[in-house]
Amino acid sequence: MGWLSRPRLRGVNADGSTNSLDGPVVIGPSAAVIGGGPGGLMAAEQLARAGASVTVYEQMPSMGRKFLIAGRGGLNLTHSEPLPQFLARYGDKQSELTPAVQAFPPSAVQDWCKGLAQDSFIGSSGRVFPSGFRATELLRSWLRSLEGLGVDLQRSQRWLGWDETTGALLVGSADQDKLLAPPKMLFPDITIMSLGGGSWERTGSDARWVPKFLAAGISVTELQAANSGFLVQWSSEFRSKFEAAPLKNIALTVNNTTVRGEAMISAHGIEGGCIYAVGRELRSAWEEQGAACIEIDLRPDLSLEQLEQKLLHSRPKDSTSTRLQRCLGLPPVSVGLMREATNNSLPRDHRELAQLVKALPLHLASPEGIDRAISTAGGVAFDELDDRYMIKKRPGVFVAGEMIDWEAPTGGYLLQATMSTAVAAARGAMNWWTEQLNAT
Ligand SMILES: Cc1cc2nc3c(=O)[nH]c(=O)nc-3n(C[C@H](O)[C@H](O)[C@H](O)COP(=O)(O)OP(=O)(O)OC[C@H]3O[C@@H](n4cnc5c(N)ncnc54)[C@H](O)[C@@H]3O)c2cc1C
Repeated sequence: MGWLSRPRLRGVNADGSTNSLDGPVVIGPSAAVIGGGPGGLMAAEQLARAGASVTVYEQMPSMGRKFLIAGRGGLNLTHSEPLPQFLARYGDKQSELTPAVQAFPPSAVQDWCKGLAQDSFIGSSGRVFPSGFRATELLRSWLRSLEGLGVDLQRSQRWLGWDETTGALLVGSADQDKLLAPPKMLFPDITIMSLGGGSWERTGSDARWVPKFLAAGISVTELQAANSGFLVQWSSEFRSKFEAAPLKNIALTVNNTTVRGEAMISAHGIEGGCIYAVGRELRSAWEEQGAACIEIDLRPDLSLEQLEQKLLHSRPKDSTSTRLQRCLGLPPVSVGLMREATNNSLPRDHRELAQLVKALPLHLASPEGIDRAISTAGGVAFDELDDRYMIKKRPGVFVAGEMIDWEAPTGGYLLQATMSTAVAAARGAMNWWTEQLNAT
């Protein structure tokens, strides 16, 4: 049954270094990794390389489903910007995540990718992608490499909780909501959990672990949609004309935060990098006031005065839409958005028009539902963890990835922190286990 009956082929020395064939050898620990997303797989890889006998339990019939979805439009593994700038993307959790990201930084992710025979490349925005662009090939060679390391990959196996009396892990065969066999009780030396956040439930990230953690007395900050679009009540005319139209090269301001980039009009609202980048600010505005408003600069490269000058060159008979398109080069979606946001009453005065182009107010109704979010904020509170990512109330149980309480914008910061925390948890687990061994 899983790792319990498998021979342990590798080992670690008592000081935590991996064994050599002729050196002093002790048997490595048995390790259960729960969750076969990038966090779980990275933890499994690190543990196996350090000499543990590893089994991964994934509740879905295949590993890495969200990883594959993440790669659909290009798998953005990490970002190439300087580390101080990079670390600042983790906002109020920067200091908690810094040691893990410094120990396994963006360059280590690129090296790891290379080790799987996939060079990475840096896109024009500084984002880093695998040469295959999508996740499919990378995941395939990752799983092959894990099997080569002796990792036992168990699919359709769901962690159901901890046995109240013995503290054992309860794991059962799963098919959707049905349990196909009575749960097994597992007593691994170490456990790493990387159960993901609470979006895209169909990939397995269903957040069903939350009540189990709460019942075990482990604080979990409420999961909330992050990197998600916001709903806007578009008129049917605007929606039918501009659904899926990109708003390129805009600047967007919420309170005192301004970001530049792109957004996209969706059927029910607005989404895209620019919106995600101010997601935290929008969420708190929405929580405090029940609504949120953004200001869009549709021509951030030109000053108000330059826009005014350009508008002066319009022909007297030109309609306002034509002036905006011809004199300022605004695309139809931007002009449409100006009409939508002003209830179809654009000012004729060139100064007022220029002001509107520089600061178009758009009212957002609410965040889109959590299931459509790219990631979730919230998760296991850092206070519950020691600096090895071990749950203080559950010695020997470590956590990694998106299930921990941090958030970041898109741009590769999500997978980077997922992998860095997985490496930190695996290294922490091996150190903890070695300490236990020395103490006995
Ligand atoms: C559309 C989309 C695009 C994205 N694009 C990017 C991108 O380009 N770059 C980037 O950095 N990030 C991206 N992300 C985010 C990234 O995919 C996640 O942050 C990352 O997958 C988190 O990894 P994880 O291992 O922590 O969790 P997950 O990938 O969610 O994996 C958790 C695993 O645990 C399993 N599990 C849960 N409960 C149990 C249980 N009880 N028993 C057994 N198994 C269980 C789940 O089935 C799942 O496979 C994207 C996400 C989405 C949805």
